[in-house]
This record gives sequence, C-alpha cells and structure tokens, in this order.
Amino acid sequence: MGISFFYLPAASMAWGVLGHRIVGQIASTYLTPKAKAAIGKILGNESIAMASNWGDFIKSDPTYDSISAWHYVDIEPGLSKEAVIDFLNKDTAVDAYTKINFLVKQLKNGQLPAAKKQFYLKILIHLVEDIHQPLHVGRHEDMGGNKLKVSWFTMPSNLHRMWDEGLINFQELSYTEYAAAINFTTPLQRKEMQQKNLKAWIYDSYQVVDKIYAGIQPDEKLSYQYNYKFIAIVNQQLLKGGIHLASVLNEIFG
Ligand SMILES: [Zn+2]
Repeated sequence: MGISFFYLPAASMAWGVLGHRIVGQIASTYLTPKAKAAIGKILGNESIAMASNWGDFIKSDPTYDSISAWHYVDIEPGLSKEAVIDFLNKDTAVDAYTKINFLVKQLKNGQLPAAKKQFYLKILIHLVEDIHQPLHVGRHEDMGGNKLKVSWFTMPSNLHRMWDEGLINFQELSYTEYAAAINFTTPLQRKEMQQKNLKAWIYDSYQVVDKIYAGIQPDEKLSYQYNYKFIAIVNQQLLKGGIHLASVLNEIFG
C-alpha cells in the first residue's frame, strides 16, 4: 500500500481517450458562468473535453515521468468505509488523492504564473476524471487490473483496459454523442452528488472495484454478456465524474 508502481508502456492508461473526453464534456455542462469564463481564459480555444487527455499524452515525454504515480491511488481490498476514509486522511504518498488536493489548493491561489496555472488545471481535470475509473483506486497487486489478462471478443486485453476503453468503445459513439446520451440527472441527484467530497468519490469507486473483481477469472473470454452486466456502471461513473469535476472547478473558479 502506498508503494508506487509504474504502468508499463504496453499497459493502458486510465479512461481511454474517449472516456476522458466524455467526462470533460459532461463537466462543461455544469459550470457556473464565472467558472466557465475563468477556465476559458486559461485553456484558450481548447475545451475541457479536449484538454482531458493531455495528462496521458505527456507520459510519452520523459520530462513528466515524475507524475506517473499521480494517476491512481492504491487502496488495499476489503476495507470498510471508515477504514478507507481513515487511510485517505493519513495519506501522504504521491498519488491521485494527495495530488488532487495539492492542485486544488494551488489553483485557488490567484498568483500562479499563466503557464503553471494551465499545467495544473489540465492535470487536475485529468486526475479527477481518472479516480472515477474504478480500477484507479485498486488493486496494487495486479496494477489496477493491468496484469489480469482477459480477452475481449477475439482481442487480447486486460481487466484495466476493459474499463478504460473496451466497454466504452463498444458503444460506437463519439464523445459528444456519448455525453449527450448519458447526461441526465435530476436537480436532487446533482445536489447529492455535489455534496460529497473527494474522499467519498474515491470510496464510491472503491466499492465498484469489488463488483468488478467478483467472479472474474484470469484469461476469461469477455463479450456481449460483460457489456450487458457492466455498461450501466461505466455510464454512471462517467456521469458522476463529469458532475464532480464541475463541482471542483466551480469551487475553484466559480
Ligand atoms: Zn490518467
């Protein structure tokens, strides 16, 4: 626990390109006008959706090697809610939880130089999205499912990649079509989701991890039934990610 590991180059990297953009696109629909204007000033012509992938793209640049451990938080399996919250309260590792807190604090400081502000904002967007991919909060022993090989129809894959992109790509929608298809909440749901904090969001993902591991076998051949079983949870995580990202951004800039 708390020991960092590297995703191998061949391993997949968090929500795939599409997943990140879907969350970013949904987030942009819940921003206050003030937050929207402030973010527009920082990102220029780039939308939140398109800026979402930058945190993964920079993994190809050795300059940014030190932030590879920012994308996930390792929490051991089988903990109660209280134990997860307690773990996070004491967490001092370099991980998604401590770095999201760091970035929020930095961005609330109006004195940041423009380049740094843009860097921090893009990474913050990416990391808040990442922690809603459940396999970014567990498990350490198989690198968030990267080491658990499965096949997806006829293609070799792994559990992590299934949740990054296998299920999402299977829907055959663009990110704007996908966001439009799932972005439905009631005002009450939005209020409830926004009242939770980062620790609760991580705990929500943590609970999904148990469901993902229940019954999965190494080398299992996954296909239509896996989509049927899990697509609603994937969509729920994408939607929650968008609403939560908007609430973080509104808190900072709104
Ligand atoms: Zn990532």
